[in-house]
Amino acid sequence: MTVLARKIRLIMKLRKSGITDTAVLAAIERVPREVFIPPMFHDQAYEDTALPIGRGQTISQPLVVASMTQELRVNDRHKVLEIGTGSGYQAAILAKLCRRVYSIERHRPLLETAEKRLTDLRVRNTTCKAADGMKGWIEQAPFDRIIVTAAASAEPPQPLLDQLSVGGILIIPMGRDKSSQFIYRITRQEEDYHCEQLMPVRFVPLLPHVARDAPEPVQDEQADPFLLSAPFAFQG
Ligand code: SAH
Repeated sequence: MTVLARKIRLIMKLRKSGITDTAVLAAIERVPREVFIPPMFHDQAYEDTALPIGRGQTISQPLVVASMTQELRVNDRHKVLEIGTGSGYQAAILAKLCRRVYSIERHRPLLETAEKRLTDLRVRNTTCKAADGMKGWIEQAPFDRIIVTAAASAEPPQPLLDQLSVGGILIIPMGRDKSSQFIYRITRQEEDYHCEQLMPVRFVPLLPHVARDAPEPVQDEQADPFLLSAPFAFQG
């Protein structure tokens, strides 16, 4: 099957699974996912599955990227903060839909690779840094939208709530273990925050501090067979 045929099959699957936002579908169609994954997995670039990207981390499943992006309700006037740059794929998708993306990653080597990919693809409206994203990006706050692509255990980090504009939306996976994680949409209102539980997901954990530049944890990548094989399906 050609790359184009695989891509069309994926887009059809996303539509069937509840992705109706044509701007989101167009962004997924236009960003080459194979650029964001290691060469050994290139044949799976348009499968609806998460894939290892090194440092024990993963590029999320396309349906999860599409759903979270759709639920973020982003437009071209928005300034968006992403926590967990990872491969840079979600940042590249957001860059097609909003004014500017600020993205934070705690693994410096992943961040450097992601930045190079974004430069090579001539994505010009992203700014990335290696830091602890749980603290947000105070110099650039407030943000119209914040998306966290790693799972918090119980509550959203307070700095992220503080750095959201009034009317702004935070999309964050939360849950103590992988079998009980959900995506939440938190909307900042004048006086308080409104929280909605969306779909079940499985994400790597949101961890504090910048990671040490230790050797590649190759074993960890293989630790979760779920992430390598069975794609997680949900009906949106
Ligand atoms: N959005 C990514 C998915 C990456 S997986 C993509 O499109 O490929 C989640 C990422 O969150 C991992 O790279 C992990 O290192 C990062 N992460 C976890 N906790 C973090 C934190 N506190 N600050 C910044 N990045 C974090």
